[in-house]
Amino acid sequence: MMQIFIPLNFLGFVYREMKGSLANIEKMFSLLEVKPAVEDAPGAPELRVTEGRIEFDDVHFGYRPDREILGGITFTVQPRQKLAIVGASGAGKSTLFKLLFRFYDTTGGRILVDGQDIRTVSQESLRRAIGVVPQDTVLFNQSLLENVRYGRVDATDAEVMAAIRHAQLAGFVQQLPEGAHTLVGERGLKLSGGERQRVAIARALLKHPPIMVFDEATSSLDSHSERGILEALRQVAREQTTLVIAHRLSTVVDADTILVLDEGRIVEQGSHARLLAQDGHYAALWRLQQEERGRAEIDAVQEMSS
Ligand code: ADP
Ligand code: MG
Repeated sequence: MMQIFIPLNFLGFVYREMKGSLANIEKMFSLLEVKPAVEDAPGAPELRVTEGRIEFDDVHFGYRPDREILGGITFTVQPRQKLAIVGASGAGKSTLFKLLFRFYDTTGGRILVDGQDIRTVSQESLRRAIGVVPQDTVLFNQSLLENVRYGRVDATDAEVMAAIRHAQLAGFVQQLPEGAHTLVGERGLKLSGGERQRVAIARALLKHPPIMVFDEATSSLDSHSERGILEALRQVAREQTTLVIAHRLSTVVDADTILVLDEGRIVEQGSHARLLAQDGHYAALWRLQQEERGRAEIDAVQEMSS
């Protein structure tokens, strides 16, 4: 049996392989002719999402038995709340998402969605309930309109256009030679990282799952793109339970709860204001990013005047 390797930008991969057909992960596994690492319990019922509450209850996990990656993670995201996860590279942020999707089973503790242990429900129903905005979104060689429609293939043009507006892409689309019908992707117009993420957000808005996970792009965006993403994300977070892996702390300021993860443990947890007052890891990270932003702005001004 060949080893399954799940890349971090998993959905980007699914989109590439499946041309986005509702991100059918079961199909993708059969495509690769490998068995998924976890299997449904016989006769597993569907997940019933009533509110969208997510609970991690003392979750332990390691990819290998001899190395624990998550050492007892406990948190709750209330319905329609926004949870941000920050922490150094390798801290275990993406692993949390992979466990929520049940790409792997926890080695200890439980993950519950609206009170249901995710090991007891069908994986298909679990994954249907969760929308993903990956770090790097792949576009197909089709119009922007069709690229967004992958979120829900039976959506009308009017619905797709509404999603484009809510994802803060309307202004961008207006400037395109053929508007939303402009060809994008490898052979069409190349979109910036921030624009691609907004396409992914538009897809997610169209799919309208009760739970959204957002893995923020690591590359620095210009402040215009960043504002667009933040506003688009706010549109999502309003109605859906939202989990964000944040690299830029500007994304987390309005989160209901911020988890600071360090080597697989939660070292701090609270709102932006509370964590600043605590003057620990988060406050230090915040000061560092403020300084970096300041320096970047000075560089930009010097560049313009030279
Ligand atoms: P983050 O998203 O915070 O950067 P990850 O959750 O991706 O961190 O990774 C946490 C740790 O798990 C890292 O040490 C990483 O090397 C390890 N890891 C991630 N994916 C795998 C995998 N598929 N197999 C083995 N180790 C992995
Ligand atoms: Mg990661």
